[in-house]
Amino acid sequence: MSTLITFGLLGLLTAAEWFLWVVLLRFGLSWAKVEGVTIGRVIGALLLSKVGQGLVFVLDSQWDDHQRLLTVLLISFATFVLPCVVVAFWFRLKPLRSIQAWLPTMVVPVITIPFAYMIGRFLIEAFVLTSNSMAPTLLGPHLTGLCVRCDGKCFASYNDLEYLKAGLQTQAICTDFHVTQTDDVADLGESADRIMVAKYLSPERWDMVAFKVPEDPSTIYVMRLVGLPGEEIVIKDGKVLADSRELIPPNELAKVEYITDTNGEQDWPANWGSPESPAQLADGEYFVLGDFSARSRDSRLWVKGAPGHDPYAVPESYIVGVVTCCYWPPDRWRTFR
Ligand SMILES: [Zn+2]
Repeated sequence: MSTLITFGLLGLLTAAEWFLWVVLLRFGLSWAKVEGVTIGRVIGALLLSKVGQGLVFVLDSQWDDHQRLLTVLLISFATFVLPCVVVAFWFRLKPLRSIQAWLPTMVVPVITIPFAYMIGRFLIEAFVLTSNSMAPTLLGPHLTGLCVRCDGKCFASYNDLEYLKAGLQTQAICTDFHVTQTDDVADLGESADRIMVAKYLSPERWDMVAFKVPEDPSTIYVMRLVGLPGEEIVIKDGKVLADSRELIPPNELAKVEYITDTNGEQDWPANWGSPESPAQLADGEYFVLGDFSARSRDSRLWVKGAPGHDPYAVPESYIVGVVTCCYWPPDRWRTFR
């Protein structure tokens, strides 16, 4: 439902933006005294400009950001010069008249940018996954292979490529939540999932949420909300207990196994939520976990907390929103809420 609202809203905005483009270009053309203008021809000219602009932006994204001057030049070219050339070609106009015809459309960003800002600030925002803490549910930049236990697809972090190149193994998780040591993953990195986050939803247990990391609020992580305000969280035998009652995860997480550093095999900076260090949440505090428990830097491991909070607690004000869907790449499209 929230995904429907998200895309409905985006569709409505795009339609409103296109309406403005058409009306303003139509106005500009009659201002430049161009004859024989139909709505169809106006839309045709706009479509052609948008395709051209799209190509320029794709081209620009291929360059690194040290060529900032080039980016500025390209964007100026794409937003003004290119459409003027298209209008001149499409309506057979001299350069000055095509500039006159295009000029009124420059108002569109002045109207739409504040709108887009407000939507991103208060309603919905898109994020790209940066880590594989939530694998296999959501993936950051990753390497793909086959699980040695079930032959299903498994995922390892792209950053682990250096271990593999050094002849070492990496940890991978498959779609069935088997965590295995492997060196049999493709050395070609695959791109991260892109997700939509709704800021108007109240987070519920097991929702995936985007939040500011208590250790470093300028960084956004995506993890699963497991512990709720007031609860005492303990992880035991792969399960999470809240106030000594076992939490039953939703079906898609039936095989997830949450771990702690109780046996001291790994050198964790902290071990919150283990039977030795239960995490007691205060009002307005949450406990978050990644689905790839062996490789997730979540509430269990943080050393420094948000001001006035324990290290493991994500304060309510740090929660950015609830993940509603994965929209890219297309074969990973799924809705969550
Ligand atoms: Zn498997």
